[in-house]
Amino acid sequence: MNRNDIFSSLKENPQVSVLIVGAGINGIGTFRDLALNGVDVLLVDRGDFCSGASAASSHMAHGGVRYLENGEFRLVREAVRERNRMIQNAPHIVKPLPTTIPMFKYFSGIFNAPFKFLGWLDRPSERGSFIIKVGLMMYDAYTGSQRTVPRHKFYSRASSLKKWNKINPEVVNTAVYYDGLISNPERLALELVLDAEAEGGHARALNYVSLVSGSGNSVLLRDELSDETYEVQPKLLINAAGPWIDFANHSLGVSTRYVGGTKGSHLVVNNPELREAIGENEFFFENADGRIVLIFPMQDRVLIGTSDIKIDHPDDARCTDEEVDYFIGMIARVFPSIKVTREQVVFAFSGVRPLASSTAKTTGQYSRDHHIEVLSGDWTNLPFPVYSLVGGKWTSFRAFAEEVADKSMEFLGIKRQKGTHTLPIGGGRGYPRSADERAKLVNGLAAWTGLSKERLDVLVDRYGTRAEVVADFLKRGTDAPLTFLPDYSRREFMFLVQYEKARHLDDLFLRRTLLAMLGKLNREALVEAAEIMGEVLGWNFDQKMAEVERTLRLLEERHRVRL
Ligand SMILES: Cc1cc2nc3c(=O)[nH]c(=O)nc-3n(C[C@H](O)[C@H](O)[C@H](O)COP(=O)(O)OP(=O)(O)OC[C@H]3O[C@@H](n4cnc5c(N)ncnc54)[C@H](O)[C@@H]3O)c2cc1C
Repeated sequence: MNRNDIFSSLKENPQVSVLIVGAGINGIGTFRDLALNGVDVLLVDRGDFCSGASAASSHMAHGGVRYLENGEFRLVREAVRERNRMIQNAPHIVKPLPTTIPMFKYFSGIFNAPFKFLGWLDRPSERGSFIIKVGLMMYDAYTGSQRTVPRHKFYSRASSLKKWNKINPEVVNTAVYYDGLISNPERLALELVLDAEAEGGHARALNYVSLVSGSGNSVLLRDELSDETYEVQPKLLINAAGPWIDFANHSLGVSTRYVGGTKGSHLVVNNPELREAIGENEFFFENADGRIVLIFPMQDRVLIGTSDIKIDHPDDARCTDEEVDYFIGMIARVFPSIKVTREQVVFAFSGVRPLASSTAKTTGQYSRDHHIEVLSGDWTNLPFPVYSLVGGKWTSFRAFAEEVADKSMEFLGIKRQKGTHTLPIGGGRGYPRSADERAKLVNGLAAWTGLSKERLDVLVDRYGTRAEVVADFLKRGTDAPLTFLPDYSRREFMFLVQYEKARHLDDLFLRRTLLAMLGKLNREALVEAAEIMGEVLGWNFDQKMAEVERTLRLLEERHRVRL
């Protein structure tokens, strides 16, 4: 169903079994699981899909080695398992990531760890080699016999200096362990939405639709593109609004304080020397007061993060000048000879972790675990229950979604028919597992579509096996590379609008592609893309210019990008 079809269907029949408010990874994961099991489910987001906290992550599918110190063993076990599943089920986007920890002390943290574990220590501190070795041994143990990623390795000072020629000579050890890199979380989320909708007309997803209010047995939704409102009557409402959960409950007339989020920011920098120095590795380390810093490759750029700062309103999350200086300073700690400047920052982003409100004294100690808060009966004036999805990590979204879907189906009296443990995602379906298999895929597509192998290689990198659908679309009309973004073609952008639910120009640059994040945009490219998008969506000249202005404003206000 297209957008208009969905609205017409809601007008005709406002009843829906499950309404999910919020299309971040938790709402989307639940949507997919319910759709798979034949449940009539509607997913709405006031913005684009995956534009909240889920678009602000550090791009890691990880168990969270440092959560061991907080005693969060259940979470680490689950997250490691889910990390492995993501690598299996979405191999086109999630890949094993060698992660290097540089260490500058041998024994620091040795006494802190047990104190912290017992809750007696509130002050974070830098960990030394010994405590990191113990943590990595435990972490390996969680991966179990299923060796999706290799075990960790420890290197002496001499080997470390040999392996990393730009590393700070004060290093005493390095360790390499493996996690997963989610190279394009926004695409992964979108493909989950499309997979769910492919299950049938019982699964409907709308971006740019807000929850406005609830009264009686109805919930009022507003289409943010047309300003029209719609009433729906759910049997169950799932509040997956992430850091906005309490605001969404407030719209329903219920006062909650479930979330006490912390802000995290990241930078993307264009510094070829740093990019070369890190190779295909993530560097994961602590500053002197124990806060985590990560530096890792993102195509030809370098991603640097993250902060962990208490914040009152999630709408206020921005990467500040102080954070930029802090990140730049942190690079100097590991690679002191490499000069990174503010001018090399091509993109910045910031978001709020929807963590359960906590009384812990440091933000690093806030639990990253997830749970469902249930509102029903006397608590609300609403005739349907509200399940609020609190916390969670990108990595463990499948497990959390499964828990929510099970609870929802139990409430609806529906039996689970299918599971998601081994279910491939989007372009991960039938993804080639070897160079031979990949060559076979590309050669077959070249013969079928007449596109060049070079072009098809790029499409497989971008879309996995979904490249087949994209290539099929490209060959059905006259195509040409874009003038200002020649790596993309006219019909490729048309495809993203027509089949991937892009509605605003910024959807194209911030989420359907990595162009903004990699700092590859210019004004001319925006205008060219607005022309193409406008052709598909029927925009007039003023609408096209308004979209260009909106994108420029968003890039400047939220991402420190001035074009
Ligand atoms: C800085 C940072 C780094 C992180 N790094 C990692 C990492 O490396 N690995 C990892 O596993 N996890 C990481 N996480 C955690 C992970 O990203 C989040 O836990 C997860 O994305 C939360 O998803 P969500 O669906 O609950 O929330 P969100 O993604 O925020 O989704 C909520 C959605 O609700 C919508 N919404 C709000 N109000 C309304 C309304 N009234 N009507 C309709 N829609 C509404 C919003 O627009 C939003 O899209 C990180 C998080 C942050 C912030």
